[in-house]
Amino acid sequence: MKDGCASQKASKQRSIELPVLKNSAAQKDGIRNSRVSRWRAAALIALTLLMIAHVIQWRLMGRTISPIEPSEAMHTLQSGAINAGFIFFSLAILATLVFGRFVCGWGCHILALQDFCAWLLKKFGLTPKPFRSRLLAFVPLIVALYMFVYPTVYRFFAKPKNEPLIPQFTNHLVTSEFWATFPPVWVAIPFLFVCGFMTVYFLGQKGFCTYACPYGGFFRIADKLSPGKIRVTDACNSCGHCTAVCTSNVVVHEELKQYGMVVNQDCMKCMDCVSVCPNDALYFGFGKPAITKSVKKNYSLTWTEEAAAVLIFLASFLAVWDVYQLVPMLMALGIAAVTTFLAVRTWRLLRVKDLSFYRFNLKSSGTFQKAGWLFLSFALVWIGLNAHSGWVRYHERAGARAFENIQIPDELALARANPAQWLSPSDRENIVNGKKHLHAAANAGLFVNKEALSKLAWIEYLSGNTEQAVHLLGRAAEHQQEQAKALSFYYQGAILNRLGRYEQALTSLDQALAERSDLILAREERGESLWQLGRKQEAVLAWQDAVGRNAGLPLANNLLAGAAASLGKSEAAVAYEKQADRFTPADPFFHWMVGLRLQNVGMNELAEKHFGRALQLNPAFRARR
Ligand code: SF4
Ligand code: SF4
Ligand code: SF4
Repeated sequence: MKDGCASQKASKQRSIELPVLKNSAAQKDGIRNSRVSRWRAAALIALTLLMIAHVIQWRLMGRTISPIEPSEAMHTLQSGAINAGFIFFSLAILATLVFGRFVCGWGCHILALQDFCAWLLKKFGLTPKPFRSRLLAFVPLIVALYMFVYPTVYRFFAKPKNEPLIPQFTNHLVTSEFWATFPPVWVAIPFLFVCGFMTVYFLGQKGFCTYACPYGGFFRIADKLSPGKIRVTDACNSCGHCTAVCTSNVVVHEELKQYGMVVNQDCMKCMDCVSVCPNDALYFGFGKPAITKSVKKNYSLTWTEEAAAVLIFLASFLAVWDVYQLVPMLMALGIAAVTTFLAVRTWRLLRVKDLSFYRFNLKSSGTFQKAGWLFLSFALVWIGLNAHSGWVRYHERAGARAFENIQIPDELALARANPAQWLSPSDRENIVNGKKHLHAAANAGLFVNKEALSKLAWIEYLSGNTEQAVHLLGRAAEHQQEQAKALSFYYQGAILNRLGRYEQALTSLDQALAERSDLILAREERGESLWQLGRKQEAVLAWQDAVGRNAGLPLANNLLAGAAASLGKSEAAVAYEKQADRFTPADPFFHWMVGLRLQNVGMNELAEKHFGRALQLNPAFRARR
C-alpha cells in the first residue's frame, strides 16, 4: 500500500521477513489448513442459534432469562438488579484472568459477525488490513470504565448519606421485558452493518474489538494478567505460518522468538496458529503471565494525525450517540471509529501524490483516479451525515436541558388549561429555549425523535398551544412503546379533558391503560371524562378502582367524596373526605390543584374547601383567584 510519507516512515520502524507473506498464493498454499477453525465456526454458529432461540422462547412465552449481554451488568452496578448479563460478564472476566481471551475468540457474536464479514471480503479478493492508532486503542478501556466503574464512583460521591455504597441486590434473572434495553430491530440491522462490515472493511478484521468494544477493554487487561498463553517449544523454525493465519494481527513468530509465548493482548486464543504449525511447536499452556512484556507495533498515523484522530473520534461519537434516541452507544463508537478512519484517510488523500486502499489506486502521481473520487465522495457524504447528526443532537440536548429545568409541577399545570399564571420567569425562559431547540431538532431531523416530541408537546402545552400539544402527543405515542406510550396517551387524555373534549379524552385514556393498567393517574382522569359525559356510575367505579389500587390517593378520594355528596350519599361522602384529608399534603399548591380538579367537575363546595386551605397555608394565593 502506498500511503504517503507518514506511513512510509512508520513502515521503516520494523520490517518483518516472512517467507509465507512475501511470496505468492502458491506458497501460501503450503500452510496447513487450521483444523480448529471449523470447530470455532461451529461454536460461533451454535452461539448465534442459541441467541435466536432465546428471543423466540421469550416471544412465545412472554418471560425468559434476562439478556446474557455484558452491558446489562451496568444495571447491576447502578441499581443492584442482578441479571444474567452481570453473571456472564463476571464469569467471563474470571475465565479470562485464568485462560486468556477464549471468551472473545469462541463466545462472542460480534466476533462471529466480524469473522463472517472478513471471510466474505476475502471471497471478493479483499483482505482487511488493520488500522493502527496508539491513542484510539484506549477507547475501549475508557468506555468500560465509564460503563462499569463510573456508576459506583458516582454513587460514592453523590449518594445521600443514609444510602449504602453497594446497592441492595434484587433478583432480575428472569424478565418479561427482554428487549427493554435494546434498540428497535430496525436499528439492530444498521448496527450490525456498521459494527460488522464497516469496521472490518475500514479498520481491519478486529476493528470493532480494537476501537469500540468496552468489554474488550477489560478482557485485554485480564488477558495481560492471565497465566494461560500460547507457548512455543524448541521445534519452532520461524517459518511464520502462525503469523500468516492469525486474524488478530499478531506477529506470532516474532513474539515467540522474543518471549517464548504470545504476549499480545489482541490474541483471542482462536488456536489457528497452534493448528497450522508444521512442526507442532505451539501449545496452549500455563506459566508466568506477561505483565511486563510489551509488543512493538507498526502504527498507521503520525502523532499529529493521532491528535486529530482523537478529536474527530470524540466529535463524531458525541454527534451520533443517542441521536433521535436511536443510536446506541456501541453503534456510536463503531461509527466514530469509521468516521475517524475516513477523515484521516481523506486528509491524506488530499495531501499526498500516491495513495491506494486495498487493491484500488485512489491517487496516482497527484491525479485522482476513479476509485479516488468514489472514496472521496463516500467519505464526504459520511462525514456530512455525522455533522448533520451533530447539529440535530446539539439541539436535542439543549432542548432536553431546558425541558428538565422547567419547575412547574405537572399536576398543577394540568389542572386547568393554559397554566401561564403558575410559570416562574425561569420557567418562561426555559419554555422559549426548549421550544426553539426542539423545533430546530425536529425540523432538521431525518428521523422522528419520539422522546423529543413528548417534551416539545409539554412545552407547547405550557405555552398555551393545547391543540399543538395534543397533536404532538399523538405523534409521539405512534412511535413509542409501553410506559412511554402510556404516558403520552395519559397526557393527551388529560389535556383533552381540560379542553372539554371528553369522548376523545376517554379514548386516549383507555389507550394509556391498555399499555399500562397500573397508571392510576389515567384512571382518575378517566373517571373525570365519564363524569362529564354523564356516565356517573361508571365514573365512580373508575375512581373506586383507583382507590382500590392505592387507598391513599388524595385526589381520587376527594372526587369520590364529591361524587357521593352530589349523589346524595352523605355517609360515604364523609368517609371518603376523611380518607382524603388523611393523605392530602399540607402544600398550598397541592390543595389548589385539588380545588381546580374538583371545580372542573362541578364539585364546587369541596373545591372551595381546598382553595380556602391553600389560602390559609399561603395567603399570597389570593392573587390567583
Ligand atoms: S472485544 Fe468485544 S466484540 Fe471483540 S470479541 Fe471480545 S467481546 Fe466480542
Ligand atoms: S511456531 Fe510453528 S508456525 Fe510459528 S514460526 Fe514456529 S514453526 Fe512456524
Ligand atoms: S496468536 Fe494464535 S491463538 Fe492468538 S489470535 Fe493469533 S492465531 Fe489465534
